[in-house]
Amino acid sequence: KLQERIRPEVAEMLRKAIQLDPADRYKNAIERYAAFAELQSRARKQRRASKRNGSKKTAKPGSSWRQLQWREFQRQFRAELDTRHQCRRCEGPVAESMKACPWCGFDNPARGATTRMPAHCPRCERGVKIDWNYCAWCYGPGFEAETTRRYSDKRYVSKCSNTRCKQPLMPFMRYCPWCRSKVKRPWKIPGSKHKCKACNWGIVKEYWNFCAWCREPVKRT
Ligand SMILES: [Zn+2]
Ligand SMILES: [Zn+2]
Ligand SMILES: [Zn+2]
Ligand SMILES: [Zn+2]
Repeated sequence: KLQERIRPEVAEMLRKAIQLDPADRYKNAIERYAAFAELQSRARKQRRASKRNGSKKTAKPGSSWRQLQWREFQRQFRAELDTRHQCRRCEGPVAESMKACPWCGFDNPARGATTRMPAHCPRCERGVKIDWNYCAWCYGPGFEAETTRRYSDKRYVSKCSNTRCKQPLMPFMRYCPWCRSKVKRPWKIPGSKHKCKACNWGIVKEYWNFCAWCREPVKRT
């Protein structure tokens, strides 16, 4: 029925294009597979080479112990703390919400990392949501909220204690992103019973050298 409405030479061209297409796709698939196989074998070679050199090239002393600690820490706390980034200085696992690196004490250790949030605070560069009025992490200046719509988010686990606000909060927020009041209730870390002596927020005493929330040194006795 299509042929009745279009000129024969156009129909012929279309027919060819349709016929050519599967072959092209087939060729593309082979090329793509070849490139993929090549990448894989290169990665394998690299792994083998680094394994061979690994025993001779001793990295910084204690670094493998540190790696082990970080891995164990991540296994236990990554989901709770969202420590998906690396410290800018020591490369230890850190979260955007942290004020200091719990391993080396560096300020705003995840700064510059790609946030999962749709926007970032111009002052501290931490991720913010477009319906917030303020940065929840740094008491920066107010934003021009891009929308008056409220977006739900499964990371909201608590509520602002300001009775006129009562808006939802995410873990480890310092300030309410809606009314800018300081979050009063100290945050706890699920799975860790220790608290920082200075700020009262939860710490992972077995692992941390510094409180990630106020930079107080953690004494492990
Ligand atoms: Zn660090
Ligand atoms: Zn900020
Ligand atoms: Zn509030
Ligand atoms: Zn603290």
